[in-house]
Amino acid sequence: VQRTLVLVKPDGVARGLIGEVLRRIEAKGYTLVAVDLHTADDSLLAEHYAEHAGKPFVQPLIDFMGSGPTFAAVVEGHRVIEGFRSLAGATDPTTAAPGTIRGDLARDWGRNVIENIVHGSDSPASAQREIALWFPAL
Ligand code: ATP
Repeated sequence: VQRTLVLVKPDGVARGLIGEVLRRIEAKGYTLVAVDLHTADDSLLAEHYAEHAGKPFVQPLIDFMGSGPTFAAVVEGHRVIEGFRSLAGATDPTTAAPGTIRGDLARDWGRNVIENIVHGSDSPASAQREIALWFPAL
């Protein structure tokens, strides 16, 4: 069975949206395997976003992601990686389709980082790498 890493980012936690995100995941029929709530440190975030190293938005992104608690979850189900990305919607919340998490719940606040409530792994290799980072005991 496939697994993915889902994060409710600090903007989503601050806005009280953990329950709403979990509701959508559970309503879709996926299973929670592990959950955790903590403020990520810079070394974890640098590794998590290693593929974006050197891009202009990576330091603002790491600062934002370390600005408060992140809710992390390992979610399981057949084709859950693409399934959760479909639930999440497009990266840019302004144009993310209504009906998706980002389309329904996020917007552009005019800050220098895209605050889009959730993260979901984008491939089996990313999922394996990210789950090992956020849940080393699993
Ligand atoms: P995620 O991986 O979080 O599901 P994604 O795959 O749609 O989102 P990526 O391209 O992997 O997006 O970027 C990771 C995150 O970095 C985005 O979710 C967003 O918060 C931020 N980000 C991406 N591009 C930009 C940008 N040009 N400016 C500011 N922030 C950005």
